[in-house]
Amino acid sequence: MLWTLISLFFLWCAFHEVHASLVAPAGFDFPSPVSKPYLALVLALAALFAWPPLHTWHFQRFLSGKATELADNHRAKVHCNTVFDTMLDPEMLFAGHANPRTGEIAIQHPWCDTLRSYLNHPERATSQELESLDLFTHESMHVRGELNEALTECEAVQRNYRAARLLGVPDETARENALQYYNINYQQRGKIGGMQAAYYSDQCAPGRAMDEHLSDSTWATP
Ligand SMILES: [Zn+2]
Repeated sequence: MLWTLISLFFLWCAFHEVHASLVAPAGFDFPSPVSKPYLALVLALAALFAWPPLHTWHFQRFLSGKATELADNHRAKVHCNTVFDTMLDPEMLFAGHANPRTGEIAIQHPWCDTLRSYLNHPERATSQELESLDLFTHESMHVRGELNEALTECEAVQRNYRAARLLGVPDETARENALQYYNINYQQRGKIGGMQAAYYSDQCAPGRAMDEHLSDSTWATP
């Protein structure tokens, strides 16, 4: 929002400069000529400050489309929260949250950046970057209609491979990443206990009660 306002300010400066070259100011017979270097500078600054919000807007649209696919066409709308959004969010302690009624998914700062850096180099994914992939899949499962956290998380675990592929990660890397999340990050949740335990179940495993037997499941044999 701040970037957009700054960009609009520079656009206004450009407009003002052009306007002054066309209309003579009060008390003058002729308008003042346009200063080309000044005009170029303010237009360049307007474009520079417009870039981050445009980039985020584009990424949110991309994520919304993929989340909708993951949620079996329940319409999802992803919003990447800024630092300010996150500070004002009553659920700021969670990395993200979703509303199954409206399809709105909020991803807290800086998790969209983490997801973006995962997508830039999935073959070198860090543990945190894998968490960001699972966060995206997890919130999409809430939009799909699941509210129980352990079931939601297990549905996400089984679809992280599908999610990574939808987001453009090459097939083999997507499977490795999804399996690594299940084998390491997910199993750690069970060991940590406390709040994390609500997201874990020992029934979330191949052939156990929570296995949905998806043809493209993370743990299906290719
Ligand atoms: Zn959840």
